[in-house]
Amino acid sequence: MLADNLRVVRETIASALAKRTEKKETGDTVCLVAVTKNHPADVITEIEALGVGNIGENRVQEARGKQQQIGHPGKWHLIGHLQTNKAKQAVEFFDLIESADSEHLIRALEKEAAKQDKVMDVLLQINVAREPQKTGFLPEEYEMVLPVLDDLPHIRVRGIMVIAPNTPDQSVLHAVFRQGYEYFCRLKRQRKDVDYLSMGMTSDYDIAVEEGANMVRVGTALFGARDYGNRGY
Ligand SMILES: *Cc1c(COP(=O)(O)O)cnc(C)c1O
Repeated sequence: MLADNLRVVRETIASALAKRTEKKETGDTVCLVAVTKNHPADVITEIEALGVGNIGENRVQEARGKQQQIGHPGKWHLIGHLQTNKAKQAVEFFDLIESADSEHLIRALEKEAAKQDKVMDVLLQINVAREPQKTGFLPEEYEMVLPVLDDLPHIRVRGIMVIAPNTPDQSVLHAVFRQGYEYFCRLKRQRKDVDYLSMGMTSDYDIAVEEGANMVRVGTALFGARDYGNRGY
């Protein structure tokens, strides 16, 4: 079952790559992040056995609970909003924080990473569509945070993360992902170490890849619907 779902996801990524009409600065391979939130720790072991080594979790405590059960195989991505008071644990348990969404948070991560003698990889989450209910830097806030990053030696910005609006309107999705790609290209010109553009989930990862994403975060298409009564550990 999981193996079949994974095959479909990989095929979908391949056909989305084939639809690109121009060569993208994000390259032509896509990193699949398996989003395991609200699923038991076993699914992490299963998906890793199938060759997927990037795991996405949206809550620090849930990830911690799973790591206590199965250890820390592969690379763990934090994809959910992080409160500053959990910065210490986030730096400890994750390899990439995709949801760096405010200057305040990034400064807290810098402080913790310095204490733990670690360089923390982060993506800057941009609220491209300016949705009031979503976190992420608004475009103008994003411009303001860029100069600050040079003074944070324990933060390594690896790229950009975008969550598209929840809409069936494909033209909106194309437009949002195209803007995400433009942010990526600009950031890549300004800074070294920038290589990831994380965009797309189950409902829209095909469009995201077509528009230039080289990292997608897929849960439902791999593991089925989530049971929100189940915290997974
Ligand atoms: C839950 C989640 C996903 C995965 O969503 P699916 O629709 O199950 O693929 C991707 N990105 C973020 C930020 C999420 O919170």
